[in-house]
Amino acid sequence: MAEFFKNYVAGEFHSPPGAERFFSVNPARTSDVLGEFAITPAEEVSRAVEAARQAFPAWKAVSRPLRAEVIDRFVQLCKKNQEELAKLVTRECGKPEGMADVIEGIHMSQVAAAFGRLPYGEVIGSEIASKDAFLLRRPVGVIAAISPWNFPFAIPLWLFQIAMVEGNTIVFKPSEDTPLCGQRIAGMLHEAGVPPGVFNLVHGDGATGKALVEHEDINAVCFTGSYEVGRLIRMHCAAHPHKRAATECGGKSGLIITKHANLELAVNAAVLGCFRTAGQRCVSTSRLIVDESILPKFVPAFIERTKQIRIGDALRDPNVFCGPQINREAVEKVERYNQMVRDSGRKVLLNGGPSAAPEHREGHFMSPFVYQMDQYDSSFRPLQEEIFGMNAGIIPYPEGDFEEALRIHNDTEYGLAGAIITDDMREAREFKERAEVGLMYINLPTIGAEVHLPFGGLKRSGNGHPSAITLREFVTDKVALTHNFSSSIQLAQGLSAKVQ
Ligand code: NAD
Repeated sequence: MAEFFKNYVAGEFHSPPGAERFFSVNPARTSDVLGEFAITPAEEVSRAVEAARQAFPAWKAVSRPLRAEVIDRFVQLCKKNQEELAKLVTRECGKPEGMADVIEGIHMSQVAAAFGRLPYGEVIGSEIASKDAFLLRRPVGVIAAISPWNFPFAIPLWLFQIAMVEGNTIVFKPSEDTPLCGQRIAGMLHEAGVPPGVFNLVHGDGATGKALVEHEDINAVCFTGSYEVGRLIRMHCAAHPHKRAATECGGKSGLIITKHANLELAVNAAVLGCFRTAGQRCVSTSRLIVDESILPKFVPAFIERTKQIRIGDALRDPNVFCGPQINREAVEKVERYNQMVRDSGRKVLLNGGPSAAPEHREGHFMSPFVYQMDQYDSSFRPLQEEIFGMNAGIIPYPEGDFEEALRIHNDTEYGLAGAIITDDMREAREFKERAEVGLMYINLPTIGAEVHLPFGGLKRSGNGHPSAITLREFVTDKVALTHNFSSSIQLAQGLSAKVQ
């Protein structure tokens, strides 16, 4: 019997009465059930939002350093439990990089805790000498935080740690694929002494997420996930102007490899970008845009290195590079795109698909699929849609035609991450100036961001409110305060203050 894990509302672990339930399952070994959780219905979501609303005035009144103390204690608990948390991340979402996810979450929380003792406004000169003017920040109120499954520890903490230090209260809904990671975060915040109602957790699926977003008492939605869901959230918030939405969505990252590239570095960047986390990163590379003159060297080296990738259950084999896909639907989705490529007659270099290896039969394992275009075709769906798995296309461009490489790179409705491998400084600079992405890398893969940089995309990939350190702008209102120290009123712009 799997253990049932309760929601966390108003400082108590609480089971929504009569709610349907779902299970969290290890995608590398589906007989391993991590726990049972409620699909929280709308009325119970309401209870959580009300708890957050009630807690807001008192939490806002707590001093910033003291609010940050809670986060600091949370960091200590994360460090104490680091090994166990890393294993939990790997067990629940299958990726071998559980430890990196936990470390990233710790880094985010450290930044948030530091904000408690850093300036949070600005002093601004008034044109009237007897006036002082300030830019102040105020919390916006109750924030809905909704996260995806692929960074089940770090991303939730991007979404609400800074928001809490700024004085907001939170209702968090973790992904239905990784609810136990969300539960551990709630457990540690409880242990760290977060006051009742300041942080609340509701489990559930898209319907629970929708009920949370659409609750009238929500002031802001911090969402990370697919474009399709992000778009729905933005549409709802656009129709309800008292709500704002920060939506960080998917990507279709390109890696340009020019004839001036260090080939060894290029091959490594391509393998890491395409296949780390089994291609299930928002920033995963799915388009390799390669100068045709280096294809004869690059392609065999890339294929050879890709064939060496070790795929498996990272809890059983510490040398695994790639885990499984998150669930059966994900396997089916990736395989649909693989089949689209096969049916189109494009050259398939690695046939990928669901893994038939006996050691993989207990989980949702796939192997890498690599194909090569002869002519670039912007209408080819596998080059335009987010696949979120091990499917990579090699797109040759005419020798030395850097303009064409950039055109192909930018020819997507997404704009999250992009990279170039080149030792030519002019190419690197052109890329820096003209690549239409929010996360840009030179001589690196498209993965590997750090939390003290903004993390966000352009076009479909985001709506201009990047996560991580810059989320602070989004979770605060800016207020202009002017204080007069004279015994008379003087107005700016030469405006007369005479009343007649
Ligand atoms: P998803 O969009 O399916 O789900 C994300 C969250 O939204 C889940 O908690 C889900 O329950 C909830 N949800 C679903 N429907 C909803 C609705 N109508 N209203 C409110 N909430 C709803 O994404 P996923 O499969 O969990 O994660 C993968 C996606 O996330 C990929 O597209 C990936 O690129 C993206 N992602 C983006 C970033 C980024 O920072 N840009 C980071 C990681 C993942």
